[in-house]
Amino acid sequence: MGQTAGEVDNPVKAVLLDLDGLILDTESLCVEVARSVVERYGKDLTLEAQRAALGKRPLECWASVAEILALPVPAEQLLAESEPLLAARWADAPLLPGALRLVRHLAASGVPFAVATSTPRATFNSKMSRKPELRQLLAERPGAVVVCGDEVTNGKPHPDVFLAAAAGLGVPAAQCLVLEDAPSGAAGATSAGMRVVVVPSLVGVGAEFGPADPAAASGLLQLLPSLLAFCPESYGLPRFHDTLPPAGHPGGGVIPMDRVVRLRGEVVKGFGRGSKELGIPTANVCPAAVAKHLAEAVTGIYAGWARVGQRPEIHKTVLSIGWNPFFANKEKTLEPWILADFDQPFYGETLSLVICGYVRPEANFSSLEDLVARIHADADVSRAALDCPPLAALAADPFLLDLEASGSAAPSRQSSGLGPA
Ligand code: ADP
Ligand code: MG
Repeated sequence: MGQTAGEVDNPVKAVLLDLDGLILDTESLCVEVARSVVERYGKDLTLEAQRAALGKRPLECWASVAEILALPVPAEQLLAESEPLLAARWADAPLLPGALRLVRHLAASGVPFAVATSTPRATFNSKMSRKPELRQLLAERPGAVVVCGDEVTNGKPHPDVFLAAAAGLGVPAAQCLVLEDAPSGAAGATSAGMRVVVVPSLVGVGAEFGPADPAAASGLLQLLPSLLAFCPESYGLPRFHDTLPPAGHPGGGVIPMDRVVRLRGEVVKGFGRGSKELGIPTANVCPAAVAKHLAEAVTGIYAGWARVGQRPEIHKTVLSIGWNPFFANKEKTLEPWILADFDQPFYGETLSLVICGYVRPEANFSSLEDLVARIHADADVSRAALDCPPLAALAADPFLLDLEASGSAAPSRQSSGLGPA
């Protein structure tokens, strides 16, 4: 059990969870299926159409898409065409990073929580069908509350589903915190009088919650890049206890990742500013080798293990994945700083990486000195965390010890993403 309320005004008493795009990565399934349906009518599924559909109930999704793309058939028909394609795939939707960790934490620390989803009940059941632990925690625990889209009168952005979930828990709206990925859900939550944390699932959606947004300006809405960046204690809820090192560290804590990422690629030239401007060299990995992973990866700072070519040493490393806000990069990059001294650059050699800890979200800094100081703090906490048993053991990961593969960058073997924690 963690530390609870006290320092926080009006502490949160219950958490309401969206499902699609927050707990489960169903959006990429939906986008794939919707794309194949609109292609039958010679249309491309634009980002605008994807955004308009996000978070809504299925028929309302199709109504938005049909209108935006001027499709010649009614939403009912589009829904009927998509349903069999989707039904076959719901059970495979992967968990999003940090989702299971959060649900386990809420259950273990006795915080009342509920699911408030636009998904109809039958689809909810399909989505849970091959995820026994998630199903138990969300729907089968004593006192579990799940409100589905077909169990309320009006869907998001109306507040109905959130109000019904709060009523089910017996907690007043003003003491509920909603976690959402979609603008329609965030609107529903604030109109229910609830605070909301938005973790956008679709690239670009975050921009819709700029400082001009009244909910953001009033402090009702907080935007986060990932559930891994959520700090329950800032809402008066028990803090997580899984960060490493266990005793805490001035540089924060590292969250061990449930799904470790293994990547290999050739070291290529970057902008050359790591060493020159920061005094911190970062080995840029050939973008093609890590493209799939990069596209899916949650941006942020990570800790892991690295090996250069077939050299005998396995080194601790701290990595940044993202757009590097300080330098306003145009492309998402993955840049490891290996925490060791090298006499020579190692361009052209294969770098093997095992990424196993989440350190913090990306951040911007007002000065180069602040940025450099923070990177050193990230390195310190990563060093300490990588000494702790679950992460330390990964220095002997077979992926790093595979000498044959370490000698050549291609073909690279990759896990499926910086994926679900
Ligand atoms: P670039 O922009 O070309 O990546 P940097 O100034 O960031 O240039 O330097 C990175 C290069 O320095 C790496 O590609 C590698 O060859 C070399 N290097 C030397 N020491 C390290 C280290 N500790 N971590 C990462 N790269 C290092
Ligand atoms: Mg570099």
